[in-house]
Amino acid sequence: MGVPSVFLRLATCNLACRWCDTKYTWDWQNFDYATEVVDLDVGDIERRIRTFDCSHVVITGGEPMLQQAELEPLLESLASDGYTFEVETNGTIVPQSGMLRHVGQWNVSPKLRTSGNGQEEREIPLALETFAQLPGAYFKFVASVESDVDEVCALRDKYSLPTDRVLLMPEGRTPDALQKKSSWLSEACVKHGFRFSTRLHIILWGDERGR
Ligand code: SF4
Repeated sequence: MGVPSVFLRLATCNLACRWCDTKYTWDWQNFDYATEVVDLDVGDIERRIRTFDCSHVVITGGEPMLQQAELEPLLESLASDGYTFEVETNGTIVPQSGMLRHVGQWNVSPKLRTSGNGQEEREIPLALETFAQLPGAYFKFVASVESDVDEVCALRDKYSLPTDRVLLMPEGRTPDALQKKSSWLSEACVKHGFRFSTRLHIILWGDERGR
């Protein structure tokens, strides 16, 4: 949190979380694809990233791993000049070797029942088992209600997720909504040995896009 970064946000997602705050990347019933999405080839993206005086890139979405084949040459080229990478993913897609070679940190956010996604969509065992083996993987769960914590504990046990790399983050799109859930959620973190995360960009800028 707080690391200077260039954000690359990719369109489309394979889930449909009811509280998703980036529905403009995938919900084409309520958002206009042509307005929201800019089609860029890998070379265009690389040129844009290089205009920033910052060599750390966070790749997010939507679900960026849907485009991992296209990302591989981008990461390969930037990594040769010392760029480092984090990927934010919902943890349903198994990463391939080209991504594993260059991504230093995986911010894996498996979805819970309260996200509104069916279990078969949100819980892909091979993908979670793969991420659980990666030393650079962190598991950030969005918690809406207190019973979400029980489900996190069950997933932690089922997939042997490392407890010290499990983070619980309150769901909310305003500082007030985050504050209301932070009290019970931080207590749950203490109880279970999980880490607590707030949503820094919401506290700093609210739900404003482009920040
Ligand atoms: S997985 Fe992420 S981008 Fe996709 S719907 Fe859920 S919160 Fe939104």
